[in-house]
Amino acid sequence: MIILDGKKTANDIKEEIALEVTSIVSSGGKVPHLSAILVGTDGASETYVNAKVKACEKVGFKSTLIRLSEDVSQEDLLAEVEKINKNSDIDGLIVQLPLPSHVDEMKVTEAIDPEKDVDGFHPSNIGRMVLNLPTYLPATPAGILELLKRYNVETSGKHCVVIGRSHIVGSPMSILMGRNTNPGNCTVTLTHSRTKNLQEITKTADILIVALGRVEFITSDMLKDGVCIIDVGITRVKSDKTKSGWKLLGDVDFENVKHMCSFITPVPGGVGPMTIAMLLKNTLLSSKK
Ligand code: NAD
Repeated sequence: MIILDGKKTANDIKEEIALEVTSIVSSGGKVPHLSAILVGTDGASETYVNAKVKACEKVGFKSTLIRLSEDVSQEDLLAEVEKINKNSDIDGLIVQLPLPSHVDEMKVTEAIDPEKDVDGFHPSNIGRMVLNLPTYLPATPAGILELLKRYNVETSGKHCVVIGRSHIVGSPMSILMGRNTNPGNCTVTLTHSRTKNLQEITKTADILIVALGRVEFITSDMLKDGVCIIDVGITRVKSDKTKSGWKLLGDVDFENVKHMCSFITPVPGGVGPMTIAMLLKNTLLSSKK
């Protein structure tokens, strides 16, 4: 069993990006600049945004964090997005999701200039992804592809089962794994909350990508020997064993399934750090344009 070490791989990618930024800047080029909008004070969102800002500093990017109150109107939020769209110094914009229920997330996503949409959520970038055209791939799926690539996981001709059909992970992941690319060329089954006989399907998976957000949902009786597991799930649960009082758990019962796996991602330290690394990669790409 090989651990797909997202933390180490993400650090390698960040070092590569930092070197590139140094060389761009020393030849008089522009410092890449990522802007993030955070609405409200949700603990998990704060953690994610702070990690992104910290990662920008680490690779030599500029970053701007715009905090808006929980009750900000949709109009004011859209105005903020428009301001950033027009700011030529800013290369990438992310709006941390989820947004409060009075805001239409899709409207906000659609308002972001596709050229600055480094999260890769804009409908036109999703369309380009489906057509295999150059674009910003959604950061989490892109991070998974990068992990599979860097660990030389064979995907061609394999049966890839994806659990979860969210716009940001499951759906794009199912499309990417079926494209005629490497990684890719899988036969893909996309499963979701209405899927019947999930266990029968997961038992035939060569590659299992799990993104549903239920702690330790995948158990050993759902797997075949030699499976490669990508655990996207991150759930914060209270813990009296950590300094913060929280710990992160994945969707896979890691300790009890790892002996069956060819490859497996840990939580934390798997997909999470890769997501941030790919966000930086997309921002660098935008800046170079
Ligand atoms: P979501 O929360 O929007 O949706 C969950 C999906 O799971 C739905 O499509 C639903 O159909 C499916 N589902 C629910 N119950 C099911 C069942 N019993 N069987 C099969 N499918 C079922 O999905 P999301 O936003 O992709 O988040 C999923 C998890 O991934 C969460 O824990 C989230 O925190 C995590 N996440 C991690 C990263 C990262 O960088 N590591 C990024 C995004 C999301």
